[in-house]
Amino acid sequence: MAVDALCSPLGPPACEKDAKALQFIEEMTRSADAVQERVLAEILSRNSDTEYLRRYNLAGATDRETFKSKIPMVTYEDLEPIIHRIANGDRSPILSAHPISEFLTSSGTSAGERKLMPTIREELDRRQLLYSLLMPVMNLYMPGLDKGKGLYFLFVKSETKTPGGLLARPVLTSYYKSDHFKTRAFDPYNVYTSPNEAILCPDSFQSMYSQMLCGLYERQQVLRLGAIFASGLLRAIRFLQLNWRELAHDIRTGTLNLKISDSDIRSCMARVLRPDVELADFIESECSKDNWERIITRIWPNTKYLEVIVTGAMAQYIPTLDYYSGGLPKVCTMYASSECYFGLNLNPMCKPSEVSYTIMPNMAYFEFLPHEPNSPSAGSDKLVDLVDVEVGKEYELVITTYAGLCRYRVGDILRVTGFHNSAPQFHFVRRKNVLLSIDSDKTDEAELQSAVENASKLLNTFNTTVVEYTSYADTKTIPGHYVIYWELLVKDPTNSPTKEVLEQCCLAMEESLNSVYRQGRVECNSIGALEIRVVKNGTFEELMDYAISRGASINQYKVPRCVNFTPIMELLDSRVLSNHFSQSLPHWTPERRR
Ligand code: AMP
Repeated sequence: MAVDALCSPLGPPACEKDAKALQFIEEMTRSADAVQERVLAEILSRNSDTEYLRRYNLAGATDRETFKSKIPMVTYEDLEPIIHRIANGDRSPILSAHPISEFLTSSGTSAGERKLMPTIREELDRRQLLYSLLMPVMNLYMPGLDKGKGLYFLFVKSETKTPGGLLARPVLTSYYKSDHFKTRAFDPYNVYTSPNEAILCPDSFQSMYSQMLCGLYERQQVLRLGAIFASGLLRAIRFLQLNWRELAHDIRTGTLNLKISDSDIRSCMARVLRPDVELADFIESECSKDNWERIITRIWPNTKYLEVIVTGAMAQYIPTLDYYSGGLPKVCTMYASSECYFGLNLNPMCKPSEVSYTIMPNMAYFEFLPHEPNSPSAGSDKLVDLVDVEVGKEYELVITTYAGLCRYRVGDILRVTGFHNSAPQFHFVRRKNVLLSIDSDKTDEAELQSAVENASKLLNTFNTTVVEYTSYADTKTIPGHYVIYWELLVKDPTNSPTKEVLEQCCLAMEESLNSVYRQGRVECNSIGALEIRVVKNGTFEELMDYAISRGASINQYKVPRCVNFTPIMELLDSRVLSNHFSQSLPHWTPERRR
């Protein structure tokens, strides 16, 4: 069939395969409500004999009304006893009629550990389906992507087994290790410079080094550069800053750095490596310059855009990305989680602040809890269906998945920006209860509070207490790091806390933070050492005066536990007496602490 015979309302497709994908998007979004009804009926009928659905006496009903009247809305903590039974080896159909194939470890935590999301094998197909829609949409806006390659920094993380023998690993690790990824068919529009062997190496240094080396060899072919999160792409740039001499040496000599010991990488790199003096000279001359502005376009001159998530907490990295790339377009393609992949951006070249994700109604059954920050938490009777959300309103996302999560609160707050056909489009507003985030870590107020409490115990022998504190995610350094401002009450000035003990306080805070934070510090190198800045006495009173001068009510004033407003940062930084960093890494192993 001629390609233009399949011309999509989204635009003329680049090839026949794209035409089918675009047509699929059209069909799904045109009949969003009917698709949702079918998805719910499928989920309820196949899982009708599960312990979970039997508990609520659905009696085989698969319609929305019965579902809505009988099934409660839940959080992860509500499901935790069930999840632990599955993790401990109970193979009976508890949540899903299909066997749980593995657990996906979310970057959201519960009691300090990653949440475990049960999944079933066929979910991989559903994720793959969403991935297969991304390039057809991109090709509408950016022709010629089949003429070159993508330099994407992709990584696997460590995996563990639950006591019952199921694998527990992040969703992307699961995907990259699957045949869906490893044996994917050649697609001229989606060719990566990174070999699978480099992506699949669990050692983050060796993986990054070999991916960077391949990207440098193919610098003229690279048309797009990416990572999952903006923080990951900046880490790659930082890696180049630290390692360009060794990389250039390998290119000059056609040999591979001995630090790369992974045998699969060594044998695949043997096919890539060749002495290239001219390229080595070029890398050395660009990287030895003091000014790294536009380094991305200097080294990869044909790059048309960056593909990284810059929505939500990642928006803090936009200025740095612009600096290194000379303001290249930043493309956010999809919105997904360990629980479920949700949807995609149908207008990928838009500005980051305008990104909206269209939820694909075939991925799960979606409901929306109106989010009214000042009203008491709403119950499940307030849940709204996908096609019934209203433009301009904010909602919390609630999902019912094929793997057996029923009316599960994801914790993301979304704002409706419009519709594509009858499928709503959402701006990602924020994740609930996140105070600090550098990479995939998410620290809430309670976690920060208990970290401060634990660390401040070290001050007891100095008869010193922390009278006030606040925090800041400092992303000016790469990797970024947490900064905690402490105002101390030193009762005996002749015995004030030493520099060493304040450094130990930094580490004690890190030890108290959740496992995603500690993994970022230890395994992924994605978070820098925590910093405590001790401020002068009276600083927090000045902070309050400032807030009141800007209209805050004196009776209701609360110390903000996280700050990022420039005048406040300036005030705090101008009162700093000393600053201290963790001198070693916190404890972290892939095994769970509990
Ligand atoms: P995880 O469960 O670790 O895979 O993290 C999933 C969470 O990451 C989501 O629930 C969102 O809070 C966040 N997230 C995923 N995709 C995006 C996106 N495109 N923009 C902003 N936040 C995102």
